[in-house]
Amino acid sequence: MSKKYVYLFSEGNANMRELLGGKGANLAEMTNIGLPVPQGFTITTEACTQYYEDGQKINNGIQAEIMEHITKLEGITGKKFGDLENPLLVSVRSGARASMPGMMDTILNLGLNEDVVDVLAKKSGNPRWAWDCYRRFIQMYSDVVMEVGKKYFEQLIDQMKEARGVTQDVELTADDLKELAGQFKAEYKSKIGQDFPTDPKEQLMGAIKAVFRSWDNPRANVYRRDNDIPYSWGTAVNVQSMAFGNMGDDCGTGVAFTRNPATGEKKLFGEFLTNAQGEDVVAGIRTPMPISEMSEKFPEAFAQFEKVCKILEDHYHDMQDMEFTVENGKLYMLQTRNGKRTPAAALKIACDLVDEGMIDEKQAVAMIDPRTLDTLLHPQFDGEVLKKTPVIGSALAASPGAACGKVVFSAEDAKAWAERGEKVVLVRLETSPEDIEGMKAAQGILTVRGGMTSHAAVVARGMGKCCVSGCGAIKMDEENKQFELAGKTFHEGDWLSIDGSTGKIYDGAIPTVDASIGGEFGRVMGWADQYRRLKVRTNADTPHDAAQARKFGAEGIGLCRTEHMFFDADRIPAIRRMICSDTVEQREAALAVLEPMQQSDFEGIYEAMEGLPVTIRFLDPPLHEFVPTEEADIELLAKDMGKSVAEIKAIIAGLHEFNPMMGHRGCRLAVTYPEIAAMQTRAVIKAALNVQAKHPEWTMVPEIMIPLVGEVKELAYVKKVVVETADAIIKEAGSNMKYLVGTMIEIPRAALTADEIAKQADFFSFGTNDLTQMTFGFSRDDAGKFLDAYYDKKIYENDPFAKLDQTGVGKLVDMACKMGRATNPELHLGVCGEHGGDPSSVEFFHRTGLDYVSCSPFRVPIARLAAAQAAIKDEK
Ligand code: ADP
Ligand code: MG
Ligand code: MG
Repeated sequence: MSKKYVYLFSEGNANMRELLGGKGANLAEMTNIGLPVPQGFTITTEACTQYYEDGQKINNGIQAEIMEHITKLEGITGKKFGDLENPLLVSVRSGARASMPGMMDTILNLGLNEDVVDVLAKKSGNPRWAWDCYRRFIQMYSDVVMEVGKKYFEQLIDQMKEARGVTQDVELTADDLKELAGQFKAEYKSKIGQDFPTDPKEQLMGAIKAVFRSWDNPRANVYRRDNDIPYSWGTAVNVQSMAFGNMGDDCGTGVAFTRNPATGEKKLFGEFLTNAQGEDVVAGIRTPMPISEMSEKFPEAFAQFEKVCKILEDHYHDMQDMEFTVENGKLYMLQTRNGKRTPAAALKIACDLVDEGMIDEKQAVAMIDPRTLDTLLHPQFDGEVLKKTPVIGSALAASPGAACGKVVFSAEDAKAWAERGEKVVLVRLETSPEDIEGMKAAQGILTVRGGMTSHAAVVARGMGKCCVSGCGAIKMDEENKQFELAGKTFHEGDWLSIDGSTGKIYDGAIPTVDASIGGEFGRVMGWADQYRRLKVRTNADTPHDAAQARKFGAEGIGLCRTEHMFFDADRIPAIRRMICSDTVEQREAALAVLEPMQQSDFEGIYEAMEGLPVTIRFLDPPLHEFVPTEEADIELLAKDMGKSVAEIKAIIAGLHEFNPMMGHRGCRLAVTYPEIAAMQTRAVIKAALNVQAKHPEWTMVPEIMIPLVGEVKELAYVKKVVVETADAIIKEAGSNMKYLVGTMIEIPRAALTADEIAKQADFFSFGTNDLTQMTFGFSRDDAGKFLDAYYDKKIYENDPFAKLDQTGVGKLVDMACKMGRATNPELHLGVCGEHGGDPSSVEFFHRTGLDYVSCSPFRVPIARLAAAQAAIKDEK
């Protein structure tokens, strides 16, 4: 039998999400549980894939299947497509497997033409409604299908409102709307060069094609990349008979959540707009009423809606985000899904659902998106300063968090300024999907228009980004890049602080304070820790970072980079002397100055980690990074070393490398200058001995990590230096302290010869940044120049430096683990690249059987949760 590409709502269910998309599967599920859903059918994601395989065409077979289902829908509704007696109007809606809010476009009232609209107007006795439907349809079809652009139509509406002396769309009369429809069609013809299509079938196929096409639009591609949604999934298309919220004052449309998506509070939350359709609520054209007011206007529909909410939560065991329409007092459900929520709300809802007996602890752990947690860990405004700072404005607390930055007025500027390291607050009249990248780059978003369910609010909450919306007090002048608030004019670049938890706006920059893990956050993390197998360490170079990471639950340090300690102003002269030495004696003299400094650094870090394991990596970067470039510094160094400026310059010139990333660095430094490794070993061991003496209750086992090894003999050579130095000191101290010597696996050759290397190593730590760089053969720092082209051409879907390439780099990791353990069963395995804090990579490391991951302090909770989710998934 050939493949089925189209399903009636009554033929699907919630488990068919892959095929029907999230929206389609849930429309089917709601139909099955007997909720009032306008009927329709879903064209599968496989049809989308087929469309791309057929060279962006809907083939005849699929077209026929779609038309068969139109006939079936006619049977169900008793209406006919394009009919002059009782016409069927439909919406065409996209719906991918994972919800992509605002990413793809919807067309309403499809099936209308000049003849049909006349019939509707006459038969309903409501010509205003009929013409409102038609003008909306032309507008959406022109924008979505033919890409004419929204703004031309909006300008025409504005002109019409001005001519009629009204401010609201709803005040336009039937005749006004009829005139507008005519203007819209003329606009269409002038832009496209053809008449607006009148044949409903042609309209339908055009609309379906547009949804398929939108799967590949730039904003969808960006959203997918940020949310790990593979391109190959495709989107489904839903064709659904219309429910009309724009038929008059006993009609309306609304959006609601069963719980508060910002705080998690268990209370219906949403907005409703009378005599309106579709996106009117979210678009911020008119200010909607809070859902609670709906109970007064539409008591019956509201009572029914409350029942539906309860049914849906009990059914899905999660907070629901719903869209509905009331047509002449009767409720219709148009969508439900597990609602997007702020990280704080996610934690509260998970805990509440456990307490309500709706889910168990494992399900609670599994339902939190680890990637959002770090926003809870980021600083909040300093309460003391906040109290003293006057509030200059107040609006909706749309998405919590504190943001402080310089004002910019466009998404492009936000991106450009952030790229050069500036913190910005994006201030917009309202946001649209085109603004996504700018919103991402900004510290926070402030909008003049829009409610809690506006685009800005929804997207910001999804990103965990601070957002304050609907600040009507702002007098915006986008053109001149300025706005006025509380009597002050703000220009581009002025500092502004906004608080997405309170909705308050402050002039200037307010300092922030660190957050901590407590309450519901702590409760969920406690559950996560019970289920995970992977240990989570942190990458930290200072006692401050180490202490921060401890607070976030780090169980040790997986990577302490020693070079950062050399860059301090009071240390750089000594390291420069060391580099420019001619003899071993000179070098050792310079190193002797550095040794106590390093030792005290290590002691500080050991103290902060309270006896937990600490892996210290020996000096890694190329030496030229340390030498002076300024003439004055060169002269100073020359004087310091009793050399001429020319001699110093010659030494510096001698350090030049064609490719420093692959040059004289890592263990190669220790091979040429073993005294460096010896000094670092002394500092590590002495620090550990001192801290051990102070804390007899701890068992100090220092871990020394040799970087950039590609050949077992170079590891053996450096290890010998380490062991001889360490053993002598330990013996002299009369101690029996143990220590480990291991290596980073970051050169493909090390992974390929892991069996040999493991014989010389107590542990492997995968340095997946360098390993990725060297496996792909391009550098992390240069990849930005061409990765975008690779995304556009679908060669790569993700940045391999952010998300581990499991196919290639992952194969090396897996192989090195197996080969390493085969020759050294005691081998301890970890990862210290940035991937250690990326959830999908953590899952891979769990499956590969590593012992721990290590990541930056703020990502420690992410890794803890991701590790738990990986373990829970594994059980199933
Ligand atoms: P999105 O995924 O962007 O939310 P939707 O497909 O859900 O897009 O549709 C956008 C808006 O149009 C929603 O407010 C929805 O309620 C409304 N809508 C979609 N289909 C219908 C329909 N058949 N009848 C009435 N309103 C509809
Ligand atoms: Mg929707
Ligand atoms: Mg490295």
